[in-house]
Amino acid sequence: MAAGMLATTPLLAKQAEKKEYGGPNVVLIRFGGGARRRESIDPQHSYSRFLCNELAARGTLFKNMIVDLVDFKARAGEKLDPKLNVDTSHAQGTLYLILGKYEKFKDRSGKFLSENFELKVPTLFEYFRSAYDVPPEQTLIINNENRPAEEYFTFSNHMRFGLDYKAETLSLFRFKLHLYDQQLANPNLSDVERKKVTKAKQDLVKQLDPAQKNHDQQGPAIHRFWDDWRAYYGDTGFVNERGDQLLTDLALRGLRQLRPRLMMINYTDCDYVHWGIKSHYTDAIRIMDRGIRQLVQFVEHDEFYRDNTIFCIVPDCGRDNNPLADVPFQHHFGSRSSREIFALFFGRGVPKGTVVDQPVHQIQVAATLGQLMGFKTEHTEGPALEAAIA
Ligand SMILES: [Zn+2]
Repeated sequence: MAAGMLATTPLLAKQAEKKEYGGPNVVLIRFGGGARRRESIDPQHSYSRFLCNELAARGTLFKNMIVDLVDFKARAGEKLDPKLNVDTSHAQGTLYLILGKYEKFKDRSGKFLSENFELKVPTLFEYFRSAYDVPPEQTLIINNENRPAEEYFTFSNHMRFGLDYKAETLSLFRFKLHLYDQQLANPNLSDVERKKVTKAKQDLVKQLDPAQKNHDQQGPAIHRFWDDWRAYYGDTGFVNERGDQLLTDLALRGLRQLRPRLMMINYTDCDYVHWGIKSHYTDAIRIMDRGIRQLVQFVEHDEFYRDNTIFCIVPDCGRDNNPLADVPFQHHFGSRSSREIFALFFGRGVPKGTVVDQPVHQIQVAATLGQLMGFKTEHTEGPALEAAIA
């Protein structure tokens, strides 16, 4: 061995062994903020007509996916006290999807309603980037800016994985950090403005999980993305799209400019129904459906993605179906229908026109995507969904 080779760091050595990735690309869509089957895939009641009437026939639909550790254990012959069942909520569902494992997550900040969870097993992004030579900006999470805890669902604390294999995040939260840094770097900024911007940046950073604060740097490709965003939308943050339509916009620009191989979009607006107004929920489903149509059309017309992409659409959690509740459509009480979701896979390597009625688990999505993309997911617990793999 030449002397120079001995100097190679372990990370570079690992990278040298990594294979080039040829696809399929994956767009994982969190049909999120909590959506029931009834308003999504039920042809009688769906507000998501593109998904229900057109897309479902193009792939494999798991009509009976559940979020339920008690059931999962029972299938392995173990009895679990229902009180110990996993939570049905947004951050949790997102993690079950990308970690492939049910867990009762605990917030480590101790703040009210805070969801700073520790990820102990690798995310899909880390498995993927450790197996293939893929730069961080080609693994993306698209997030709502009001969920800063989810900004760091891009890497775990697992010894063999972690930061070296992280994904990048696109969110207005990240754009603002970029913007404030750019403004502060301007030597002509007045003292008054400098104070204002410094304070705004501090307020933003304060929302981050303290354990992750030192890892808030994004790579050069992402900074170029934000420069371009800023040139288009300016500095006010008022003229871009809002809510889930903004996430679609970020995702479309991400696809065009960064060419991600694996992208997760965390739609979230259904959750406005916590205020009790049903139309907030059904409108949000329509907006997601429109977003999905835009994404599918983009992929169909783009040479890089066409015929080489898989979509997976799956809710984070369902919602209660008790119409007599004071505030209907909640999801924090572990009711049956808050555990009932679905998953639709379609695209390269996925059988068409298949409907699976048997119960399957949300945590099986991770191993399925790993198998479709050709990498091992050794810490996932649910086996891959064979019906989604041709
Ligand atoms: Zn919620």
